[in-house]
Amino acid sequence: MEEQFSQYADIVLPLAVPQYYTYGIPDKFNESLKPGLRVIVALGKRRLYTGIVRNVHVIPPEGMEIRPVLDVLDESPLVGEKQMAFWEWIADYYLCTVGEVYKAALPSGLKLESQTSVFAKEFIPENIKLSAQENELLLQISESQGITINKLLASATGRGTLAAVKHLAELGLVSLEENVKETYKPKQHTQVFLNSQWEDETQLSELLNRLEKKAPKQAELLQTFLRMTAFENGKSTIPLVRGKLLAESQTSQAILTALIKKGILRIEHEEISRLGNMDRRPDKPFTLNTKQQEAFSAIKDHFTRKDIVLLHGVTSSGKTEIYIHLINEYAQAGKQVLYLLPEIGLTAQIIRRLQRVFGNRIGVYHSRFSDAERVEVYQNLAGIRRSGSPEYQIILGVRSSIFLPFSNLGLVIIDEEHENTYKQFDPAPRYNARDAAVVLASMHQAKVLMGTATPSFESYTNAWTGRYELVELTDRYQDMQMPKIDVVNVIEARHKKLMSTHFSSVLLNAINETLTKHEQVILFQNRRGFSPYVECNDCGWIPYCKHCDVSLTYHKQSNRLICHYCGYSIAYPKGCSSCGSQDIRTRGFGTEKVEDEAKIHFPDARIARMDLDSTRTRRSYEQLIDNFEHRRIDILIGTQMVSKGLDFEHVKVVGILNADNMLNFPDFRSYERSYQLMAQVSGRSGRKNTRGTVIIQTADPENVVVRHVVNNAYREFFMQQLAERRNFKYPPFYRLVKLTLRNRSLALVSQASNRLADDLKRTMGDRVVGPEFPLINRVFNFHQKCILVKIERDQQFSEHREQMRAAIAALLSNEEYKGVQVVADVDPLLNETDIYSYPFIQHIYPYLRPARLLHPPRRFCPHPYQTARGLRSLLFCY
Ligand code: ADP
Ligand code: ZN
Ligand code: ZN
Repeated sequence: MEEQFSQYADIVLPLAVPQYYTYGIPDKFNESLKPGLRVIVALGKRRLYTGIVRNVHVIPPEGMEIRPVLDVLDESPLVGEKQMAFWEWIADYYLCTVGEVYKAALPSGLKLESQTSVFAKEFIPENIKLSAQENELLLQISESQGITINKLLASATGRGTLAAVKHLAELGLVSLEENVKETYKPKQHTQVFLNSQWEDETQLSELLNRLEKKAPKQAELLQTFLRMTAFENGKSTIPLVRGKLLAESQTSQAILTALIKKGILRIEHEEISRLGNMDRRPDKPFTLNTKQQEAFSAIKDHFTRKDIVLLHGVTSSGKTEIYIHLINEYAQAGKQVLYLLPEIGLTAQIIRRLQRVFGNRIGVYHSRFSDAERVEVYQNLAGIRRSGSPEYQIILGVRSSIFLPFSNLGLVIIDEEHENTYKQFDPAPRYNARDAAVVLASMHQAKVLMGTATPSFESYTNAWTGRYELVELTDRYQDMQMPKIDVVNVIEARHKKLMSTHFSSVLLNAINETLTKHEQVILFQNRRGFSPYVECNDCGWIPYCKHCDVSLTYHKQSNRLICHYCGYSIAYPKGCSSCGSQDIRTRGFGTEKVEDEAKIHFPDARIARMDLDSTRTRRSYEQLIDNFEHRRIDILIGTQMVSKGLDFEHVKVVGILNADNMLNFPDFRSYERSYQLMAQVSGRSGRKNTRGTVIIQTADPENVVVRHVVNNAYREFFMQQLAERRNFKYPPFYRLVKLTLRNRSLALVSQASNRLADDLKRTMGDRVVGPEFPLINRVFNFHQKCILVKIERDQQFSEHREQMRAAIAALLSNEEYKGVQVVADVDPLLNETDIYSYPFIQHIYPYLRPARLLHPPRRFCPHPYQTARGLRSLLFCY
């Protein structure tokens, strides 16, 4: 029998499905259901989902069974109308679904998880043959009826648990049930109160007398309670946290319970905030110097006419101070401010600088926070506040903070706007938070300030064409000079025997001098691990990943060879598997090796390493920064992590050990990226007191990038590169969309990608390039091929997106291609399609690598594995 409804709700589900689902609203929810609320609905046979109501209407969907909304989770909307519109914009622009945006936008604690519980049947027929594993599982399930699949998986020792459970279910021996559970739990305080009838002093002292005789321990606890409340607040009715009381009186919960039973004390639970609280009173911002003041005024002046300003200020020019002044003005006008930082740059340092001025009004939204903490920041902005947590007016956050429920956004600051980490790689939505934030701001009629010392070509172009206004700061704060940059030709140095391992004598001398002055050094090598690959010295055998087409990276600390793509690892080989030789050599060098060598050159120095491997936890990362700040470390060695917006007072020397692997990286953005990395890491030196020195080691000292970095000539560099971008149809003149097809079968991937490309070419002609193999043909046993679409800036991009959407849908509606995964990446950062697989690289290189065409490298030898490593290091290896 079908239920009858008078109203219906269109609901977003956290799935990669293109449409909203329509459910019937049972009468009991008719009043309460409105857009933005979370509801529980069923889809398919068993699955339950937390959906979000998009709209409520009276039009029944036709030709299908209508299921009811099962439950409503909120009283007030968790997702506002503007947010929904923003989600829809992201889904439309980045070629994904609103459901996928929903998944990324809400902290997982707010998305109730559907989980499967397993129940065993009471009667088990005897003639069924089960494997040992299945028997064991069955026993476990019948012993703990209703155990969740997750728990089963966690307690399982071997593999194949899921398959075994599935088999048991097929045999009818166990049944599965879905239910949803709330994963977020508010943190609670238990507080102890004195019941009001005992507030009278004479009654209270009589009570104490009685207790001392009959129950001395209880009397003692009560005494402590009175002392502590009186001590803390001068009044005994003020509550006390239970934990504190028990600790102080050194008694047990049982004694407290006894007092509660007698009606003397009572306890209450209160939800409290997990988020840190600042008790200190905020200070005034620093006074800006003349140049900062000029820039500040210029920004405000531009904001009266334009919405977006790009602040191009050299490293250590005091951009952050200008942000602080601007935030202050918007906060005082009652507006909300979003301060975006790239992932790793979000350091304790900046939090501290902002908290000094804004105290409690600043909330931090960080992927390294626990999910519960993120839920609380989200709820705070949605108007749900816990005691101890003030209303946040300023949010300091990483890219996902653009999804927070702002109600009154006035200003967005995008710090280090050029950073890669603003772009989400995986999974969908593959959005760029910088670009999306611009859209978010325009929805709120808010202003945007982007700041950096090395603008992205996209933003700088926008500033030149007048879409943004440009404000420049060309001097460092207190007129500190920009660091002096020396370039060392490593080939020449090697010939002259002036290289000792990977250190040139120039660099060694500079470090020595710095150490004797008790100042600090940063060494930059954009590659983690010990060496990117190992090789048999006799036959050239190289260990590869079993699942991916890449060589394995040697990590000395764990003495293993590790795949940076899938995590597969093997022990360091004792001999060559091909010829049996014992002569296995490490090739190339990463941060671990630099660390090793530095320890040999500077045995007395305190040396630390900062890369993805040494900063797995938020604590270890902050600890490293703190140690370096307080000069408990002399030499800090790191990947691009050390280049990010850090402000250390005592760094005098920065060494870039090998500029070439950045420069030779086969991507059209590699020169832009190299400039940014080198200029940023250089900017860490000589920020206070005396001028810093930077030493760049390269085999190609005449390289344009190196030359422009040395002269601090960003604008010339930009102008010079722009022509190439135009000639070879790259951003900022063209928009790119990369379509990657994946499947375990190479033949299927090839067929499907040919077909998709042909289809696209019919409507888009030679804007479609490929299909071709990307740099790494196979990752985790999935073969992949890419199609690149290049679309002129002035073209109607939305029409082209529609065409691509339609072509992908048409391909996947084909029975034979159903299993092919198609990933669309709009404005991709790394254009792997251009990096055709190695055998083709040199063949078509001139066409693909504009920078190479004009500036052929001296030693272009991308060992396939090196190239793969290079890719990896740019992608993931901070
Ligand atoms: P940027 O963000 O441009 O790299 P910062 O804002 O980090 O530069 O400034 C560099 C250093 O100079 C910081 O230590 C900062 O505290 C200091 N500084 C900058 N401007 C001022 C100012 N107006 N008053 C006091 N200190 C300042
Ligand atoms: Zn692998
Ligand atoms: Zn060999």
